[in-house]
Amino acid sequence: MAAAASRTVWVNGPIVVGAGPAGLSVAACLRERGVPSVVLDRADCIASLWQRRTYDRLRLHLPRRFCELPGMPFPAHYPEYPTKRQFVEYLQAYADRAGVEPRFNQAVTSARYDEAAGLWRVRAEDVLASTSTTEYIGRWLVVATGENAERVVPEFEGARDFAGPVSHVAEYKCGEAYRGKRVLVVGCGNSGMEVCLDLCDHGALPSMVVRGSVHVLPREMLGVATFSVAVFLLRFLPLRLVDAVLVLLARLFLGDLERLGIRRPACGGPLQLKNARGRTPVLDIGALARIRSGHVRVVPGIRRLFRGGAELQDGRRVAADAVILATGYHSNVPQWLKGSDFFTEEGYPRVAFPHGWKGESGLYSVGFTRRGLSGVSSDAVKVAQDIAVEWEKQTSKR
Ligand SMILES: Cc1cc2nc3c(=O)[nH]c(=O)nc-3n(C[C@H](O)[C@H](O)[C@H](O)COP(=O)(O)OP(=O)(O)OC[C@H]3O[C@@H](n4cnc5c(N)ncnc54)[C@H](O)[C@@H]3O)c2cc1C
Repeated sequence: MAAAASRTVWVNGPIVVGAGPAGLSVAACLRERGVPSVVLDRADCIASLWQRRTYDRLRLHLPRRFCELPGMPFPAHYPEYPTKRQFVEYLQAYADRAGVEPRFNQAVTSARYDEAAGLWRVRAEDVLASTSTTEYIGRWLVVATGENAERVVPEFEGARDFAGPVSHVAEYKCGEAYRGKRVLVVGCGNSGMEVCLDLCDHGALPSMVVRGSVHVLPREMLGVATFSVAVFLLRFLPLRLVDAVLVLLARLFLGDLERLGIRRPACGGPLQLKNARGRTPVLDIGALARIRSGHVRVVPGIRRLFRGGAELQDGRRVAADAVILATGYHSNVPQWLKGSDFFTEEGYPRVAFPHGWKGESGLYSVGFTRRGLSGVSSDAVKVAQDIAVEWEKQTSKR
């Protein structure tokens, strides 16, 4: 067995954990203010969520102007909804332009504030050589590991008996592998709906398991993005009223979805549920049409799995060759950030938006606002400004 190797690295500037859009943008904003940083990521590339854990047909759900990172617009030739490949290219160009070079394969296993020294001690395991650990020590810690760090994997009675593969949507790339197969897609969020659409396009036979309720909105209405309409209305109306308008418009453009087996939440509008609980409304890009045409079956929750399929909550049985869990993700901050109560047990800042970006003792968070990439950008700018002020004070003392 190889002997454990460990080393210590002094970081002159903030330690940023995560090299997704949040980590890259805060490092770029810091750099612009003359503050160096060290960015750590457990993956072997930037934006690993986008590069490694998303399906091929994915495009940004929101219009491009709501997804730009600070200081760099998308190239003019990009479409309104850039593809995943275009988004990743944009992120790579963003990192290159700012000179951000993350240290990859560094999985942070613990971070703790050392009161006596007034410094953060961040331990990272080398993913390629698990016996090798590094302790990074620095004055500031920026948490940028994202709201989607770990998969949510529900357990089903009888899962061991099920004859086919059960996988998470993080592993799904394209429906080709499922051609001709009966697939149970568990979950009716954006990913669940889009995977059903993709399965149809590749000649598979999807059934979508809908357990709870969900807001479904058209992505566009008469050529105008629904999200843009919401942002515009929020300038004049309170959120509750904007939600009421959105629900009305959805009803007008999409019709009665209850008849298709998709219930709207009884309490809370689409924006309110997104902000308060992170429940993203579905922006329909064609799955509803496939449900209406009968190509996607909507079925209730799963009671248990058996060898050839699933028994549902209403007692019916559906045959299935494969199960895909489009059941979402969760934050992993509580697993590695020790001795701080800045984050809740669910891994979100305790203080509500827009104040959740700054904690005690040089602790910061970027990208936990439940507001997607626009939340990432607003956090990154504030965090970089704040640290730059401290940095300035410290360097001018020397
Ligand atoms: C399918 C999908 C589509 C989406 N589409 C949109 C959209 O169109 N518009 C929008 O605004 N938002 C969208 N989002 C939300 C999305 O989360 C953000 O766009 C964005 O990826 C958030 O960036 P982030 O850097 O905060 O998190 P991430 O992109 O998840 O990056 C976090 C990084 O931290 C790393 N990490 C995690 N734990 C550790 C650890 N312990 N040690 C070291 N590194 C670690 C990960 O490897 C990862 O690279 C989408 C999300 C999904 C899942």
